Amino acid sequence: MTISDLHKSYGDVEVLKGISLTVAPGEVVCLVGPSGSGKSTLLRCINVLETANSGLIDVGGFIATDPDIDLDVMRRHVGMVFQAFNLFPHMTAIENCSIAQRKVLGRSQSAADEVSRASLEKVGLGHLADRYPDQLSGGQQQRVAIARALSMEPSLMLFDEPTSALDPETVGDVLDVMRNLADEGMTMIVVTHEMHFAREVADKVVFMDGGVVVEEGPAAEVIGNPQHERTKSFLARVL
Ligand code: ATP
Ligand code: MG
Repeated sequence: MTISDLHKSYGDVEVLKGISLTVAPGEVVCLVGPSGSGKSTLLRCINVLETANSGLIDVGGFIATDPDIDLDVMRRHVGMVFQAFNLFPHMTAIENCSIAQRKVLGRSQSAADEVSRASLEKVGLGHLADRYPDQLSGGQQQRVAIARALSMEPSLMLFDEPTSALDPETVGDVLDVMRNLADEGMTMIVVTHEMHFAREVADKVVFMDGGVVVEEGPAAEVIGNPQHERTKSFLARVL
């Protein structure tokens, strides 16, 4: 996945000021930076929830910045997991995982459910497939949201602070699922304040501030030996 010179403004305010980033297949990139630095906006541009003003985003040959992009095709290749899980409350876990497969991919109910079951197994929730969201803990709901994204068999997974809204005791389960995905070779961009996770799992850490990439490199270098003052002061606050 390649991003080159991406610019995004809201009205007169430019929030992405020329972002360039390459993520190799199977690579895990953790995106860190202060509030308002543009992390969510960047993910939302990759998933075409926002339209960039200029620059190029190429996800395995799909050009997200092409104004004529087929959003359905793009979004089935890019899975996204948000801080708020956004599950359909009136659907069970397995129904939440199957609905987009049926509507977007045209899979039959039974074919979709088979994939959904495998995805729920993968996140450790095969036994809770028939529960409704309000019968699951926050961490379990987030794992359903991950299973739902995986059920579309994406080539890239985007995570926007997936554990920030969770009770501390359920954070570890979600991070374990993400760690397993990384080990299986999923290409991932993860916005997170979990520096321990970033240090262990990320191939690359990207520090953003004020709409630009300030510093990027191997996790041990950026977290363990930051070069820029802004990176140092940010890490001093979150570590
Ligand atoms: P946080 O860590 O708090 O989630 P972030 O790095 O994800 O922050 P963004 O949400 O990408 O930051 O926001 C970047 C800037 O763009 C902020 O100044 C924000 O106020 C502004 N912004 C985001 N979405 C919109 C919008 N829909 N309309 C106008 N401004 C927006
Ligand atoms: Mg954000």
